[in-house]
Amino acid sequence: MKDSILVINCGSSSLKFAILANAGQETLVEGIAERLGSDESSITFKFEGQKNIIQLEDGSHKNAVAHIKNWLSSHPIIESSLAGIGHRVVHGGENFSESALINQNVIDSIKECAQFAPLHNPAHAKGMEVAFELFPGLPQVAVFDTAFHQTLAPEQYLYPIPMHFYRENHFRKYGFHGTSYRYISQRLAQIAKGSDQQGVLVAHLGNGASTCAINKGLSSDTSMGITPLEGLMMGTRSGSLDPSLLSFISQAENISADAALDILNKKSGLLGVSEISNDCRTLEEAMESGDPRAKLALDMFAARTAKHLASVATTLESIDHLVFTGGIGENSSYLRQVICNHLKALNIGINSTLNENAPRGETINISSDSSNTNVWIIPTNEELMIALDTISLIQH
Ligand code: ADP
Repeated sequence: MKDSILVINCGSSSLKFAILANAGQETLVEGIAERLGSDESSITFKFEGQKNIIQLEDGSHKNAVAHIKNWLSSHPIIESSLAGIGHRVVHGGENFSESALINQNVIDSIKECAQFAPLHNPAHAKGMEVAFELFPGLPQVAVFDTAFHQTLAPEQYLYPIPMHFYRENHFRKYGFHGTSYRYISQRLAQIAKGSDQQGVLVAHLGNGASTCAINKGLSSDTSMGITPLEGLMMGTRSGSLDPSLLSFISQAENISADAALDILNKKSGLLGVSEISNDCRTLEEAMESGDPRAKLALDMFAARTAKHLASVATTLESIDHLVFTGGIGENSSYLRQVICNHLKALNIGINSTLNENAPRGETINISSDSSNTNVWIIPTNEELMIALDTISLIQH
């Protein structure tokens, strides 16, 4: 039966892929092509518990997709089960409030939004063009990180700057991680009946991190902005700060505004504060062996996450659920605890035993008995959402 979906996440120098079967429930094969554009590129296939790394003779995106096609031709049962291709797209601007069946107009619109995602969107468009060339018969679907947040009200998405920047340049908050938030909202509705009619806060905490308020199933506010730099402190991103710092940094270092922005995107956050690493697990190990810089970075991360949870909560009528997800949200009991310590005034509390013993990769309620809000850990699954959207759009 044709029900497998090839999910592609095409970045500027990497291409992650997976083939999902059984309505997205089963991953048949997955992998990543890395260092594309260099002469040291490779593609890795993970299949039936085995990892196979192939050096790429030509590091183009097309060559990476050609290797996926080659792999499929030596696995004809999987090849013949393919029904479509789903692409993750970072920025859909105001053009897309939901996933879309890809045609040339859709590709052109994705290229139009490239001004706000200059590294990602051109790579996504390229991935689609290459996939059409190499898999000519397969329908393709684009799933946007921004789409879920198109329900924000103008008072949430507009920046308080002269309005002509919005009218003429589309400068506004877009928000990201929308596919993850949509998955969490639907998954929560399965385990907490009625949550799709309630107020939900979600902290998606990974290398990139953001918060979202979901009011009756719709995004009502989120911490990221016109780009993924706004909001929380992240692995290497500063998150929100006084914009005057941009010109102070460029003056202090005698560099351009773009170079100063690069510092806020790539050298700040956990990495900049700890001066050790952008990686939460590495910092937790350093903190446990007594490094105060690691503890300061993690505690700042927690304080700022709590602040942005409280901030987006102003769009809810009640905070019925708080969900932690993403690599850090799912795995760091330390950060979950410190974040919730900052939310005591909102009557949000967790049971420290449940929090510390939460089994990896499972959905679990970790609220304390006295908490007004149900606090959950829910592993996210963006690939599943992309596969399900693809199945639903290609069936129409
Ligand atoms: P991305 O934004 O790249 O998708 P992930 O959601 O994979 O990021 O999250 C990566 C982060 O999760 C890293 O900072 C990593 O250290 C952290 N992480 C993963 N496992 C653990 C763990 N067991 N304890 C603490 N942090 C963890």
